[in-house]
Amino acid sequence: MRHTCSRFLSVCTRLAGVRGQKRTESLIKRMASSFAADRTSVTGENVWVEFTTLAAKHNAVNLGQGFPDFAAPLFLKKALADAVMNDPLNQYTRSMGHLRLVQVLANVFSPVYGRQLNPLTEMFTAVGGYGVLFSLIHGLVNPGDEVIIIEPFFDCYLPMVKMANGIPKFVSMKLKNEGGTSAKDFVLDRDELAAAFSPKTKAIIINTPHNPLGKVYSRDELTMIAELCKENNVVCISDEVYEWLVFDGLEHIKIATLPGMWERTVTVGSGGKTFSATGWKLGWAIGPTELIKCGHDVLVQTTYTCPTPIQEAIAVGFEHELAAKGTDESYFKGLSLSLAKKRDLLVKLLTEAGMKPIVPEGGYFLVADTAPLNLTFKSEKNDPYDYEFCRWFTKERGIACIPPSAFYSDKSKHLTDKLIRFCFAKKDSTLEAAVAQLKDWKGQN
Ligand code: PMP
Ligand code: GLN
Repeated sequence: MRHTCSRFLSVCTRLAGVRGQKRTESLIKRMASSFAADRTSVTGENVWVEFTTLAAKHNAVNLGQGFPDFAAPLFLKKALADAVMNDPLNQYTRSMGHLRLVQVLANVFSPVYGRQLNPLTEMFTAVGGYGVLFSLIHGLVNPGDEVIIIEPFFDCYLPMVKMANGIPKFVSMKLKNEGGTSAKDFVLDRDELAAAFSPKTKAIIINTPHNPLGKVYSRDELTMIAELCKENNVVCISDEVYEWLVFDGLEHIKIATLPGMWERTVTVGSGGKTFSATGWKLGWAIGPTELIKCGHDVLVQTTYTCPTPIQEAIAVGFEHELAAKGTDESYFKGLSLSLAKKRDLLVKLLTEAGMKPIVPEGGYFLVADTAPLNLTFKSEKNDPYDYEFCRWFTKERGIACIPPSAFYSDKSKHLTDKLIRFCFAKKDSTLEAAVAQLKDWKGQN
């Protein structure tokens, strides 16, 4: 291998002299792509890479990628500063999760699950919700196993299932009536979902509160999914990274707490989403020992463990929350109240701008229908409408947003029609800057 590479480099150098750098670059590209493992061909283009880069390049008001641009809480930042000043905490910690963190996760979640969680065997931590999902999917899915994915879906589920050589089976949520204006109007049809199960189904992945719709699944909807999981003996991976961000007094329900579901469900959480510090990339899985072991078996051979100071600080964050629970000091309560206001503001602004927002019940995001705008703009790549719209909107109108067709399989991308996703976990001043851009734009039309 080393021999081949050095021969290749010397050919390149000669070529550079003779025919110029361009030719060399194209040769390097071809050579390098011949090295790529097959699994890289199933991952496709990454929507976050394209649109985050585009937003930065055009200095757009960024309502695209889902991260708060407001400050993370002081108690959390202080806890991290304290952690790094305490030298033992700058070293490796326990592979399945830093003790102080798993202990407090057990304290927080045992009452929610209505059972005493074992912090040592019924949870593991990983690098973000992403790391948890990757470990679980690779620890559970054999080649040829089918995995049911509900559309729209957080985009990484699909490449992760494909990289594990699983077979994705899609079922779409649809607006139950044409004029639906709330995320709860997006529903699953029981018969369509039931038809997606087969003897090869290993798992289903659900997400509540939902990205990108902002739907919070009701008890009836979760019960319907749970019954099908039990009838078909299927594992449920429940992505609940936005679990504390529910609005208007709505209740977030864990499917794992429904009868007969604990033993077949693993729930995914994210410290980044919980404490408005998405760059911290620290997630956790909670579930029965046997399923947790499957995920941890992958994690222990990939990253082995994740950063100790970050886990220590998130543990302190949860301890702070436990002490403040039910009071006005509760960070979770304050955050969801403030996000609900931001949601209302964005809904109002988008409506005034002529779009039709679908009002979310939780999470960071809303989708809005741009069809009433009747826009025409120059198509760049012959991509789905929403991709073209988001590129144009970012470059020409200075507002970055995300195309929801990234959250659908190829066959169903048309279902998003003219919907666009916006993130409202932003400072009021950012939302107001977006308004100013929208107003300018309206003025020009
Ligand atoms: N699941 C969903 C639904 C998400 O939106 C995200 C993005 N935060 C993740 C998982 C990944 O979480 P993390 O940033 O902690 O990796
Ligand atoms: N979950 C966030 C979103 O949906 C961020 C995703 C990412 O950065 N890959 O926007």
